[in-house]
Amino acid sequence: MHRPRRYGAGVGGYDLTMESCERCGFIWVSVSDDEFRDRILSGISEMSALISRSPQADAHPDPQTWSVVEYGSHVRDVLLHVRDRIVIALVEDCPEFKPLYRDQRADLGFYLGDTPDVVCGELAMASSLFTRTLERIPAGGLDRPCMYAFPTLGERSVRWMVQQVIHEVEHHLGDIRVQIKGSQNQERQNQERL
Ligand SMILES: [Zn+2]
Repeated sequence: MHRPRRYGAGVGGYDLTMESCERCGFIWVSVSDDEFRDRILSGISEMSALISRSPQADAHPDPQTWSVVEYGSHVRDVLLHVRDRIVIALVEDCPEFKPLYRDQRADLGFYLGDTPDVVCGELAMASSLFTRTLERIPAGGLDRPCMYAFPTLGERSVRWMVQQVIHEVEHHLGDIRVQIKGSQNQERQNQERL
């Protein structure tokens, strides 16, 4: 999974170190507040376009890897879940959250029947709701602290949670691109064998 490596010293009085994702290179603290809305909406727009155009959106390249549409379902759930975490962090002092239970959501069958059309509509709704929430965060709200379990349990901020949502969108956008490319290569090889 995306295990971050330490990148530098802490900033802003929090134990917030500059970290980057080993797999996609995302650096959480590099995303400024004025980029939040556009990064989320443009990432979701591209994700939806890829999901709806994918010829094999529900195919698993192997049993351990999500399908293209399941990546979309996961990102939808992240947007909804972190939106609620933001509200909680604005009300409670340094709350700790229940996990998202990312894998269990798929394993328990909650993504069964999520079609590309349905997921793309829900991604549009969830990203609109999330970015409208961002616009309504009161002054100083982005600095509110919370405890976050990823990558390791530690004190973060509402700002970091938004950066993490952008990471989730862009990281899984990369996963979807790789998977679509893989299935196109596979199809080409199959054609060549004919
Ligand atoms: Zn990443």
